[in-house]
Amino acid sequence: MSYTLPELPYDPAALEPHYSAAIVELHHDKHHAAYVAGANATVDKLAAARDGDDFGSIVGLEKTLAFNVSGHVLHSVFWKNMSPDGGGSPDGELAAAVEESFGSADKLRAQLGQATTTVQGSGWGVLAWEPLAGRLVVEQVYDHQGNVGNGAVPLLAIDAWEHAYYLQYKNVRADWVKAFWQIVNWDDVAQRFAAARMLRLA
Ligand code: MN
Repeated sequence: MSYTLPELPYDPAALEPHYSAAIVELHHDKHHAAYVAGANATVDKLAAARDGDDFGSIVGLEKTLAFNVSGHVLHSVFWKNMSPDGGGSPDGELAAAVEESFGSADKLRAQLGQATTTVQGSGWGVLAWEPLAGRLVVEQVYDHQGNVGNGAVPLLAIDAWEHAYYLQYKNVRADWVKAFWQIVNWDDVAQRFAAARMLRLA
């Protein structure tokens, strides 16, 4: 039942020079791990609140749960969205859906890149499958859980928190986004897309 930190699908140095081993290790072993621990701690606190019939802290606990679980979800997607053999553009059915929803892969990169670069404060740029309309959408996510329409499934997540790039790219978040396109794993995105398309909300 509890949340666990997934292992990295590659060696921490595998994404260099685009993403440094030092960031990958710190980011995974400390930052992602903290969201996993936070999610588990909050689940325990909610259980204790139920046991004690004391929901006085429910507002804070539910917010903390959303923050930590969403952080765990997005980082879990993020690691697999990158590969030492990444880059290029989507193909197959994902390419067709990208074209239908955005016009072209370049337009997707432009919109998602801009959404990631311009997040105010901490957040993410996310490509998601929106199952009601049956289309791909870009989300500009605040923290890990804000500014998101319910029901959309994240397929591709670019971390725009300073901890994700500052050691290597300093204040130039746009350079981190440019580097991300060199290591993006479109095969992983395509697998997530195929699974998400089966979801029916209505
Ligand atoms: Mn992060």
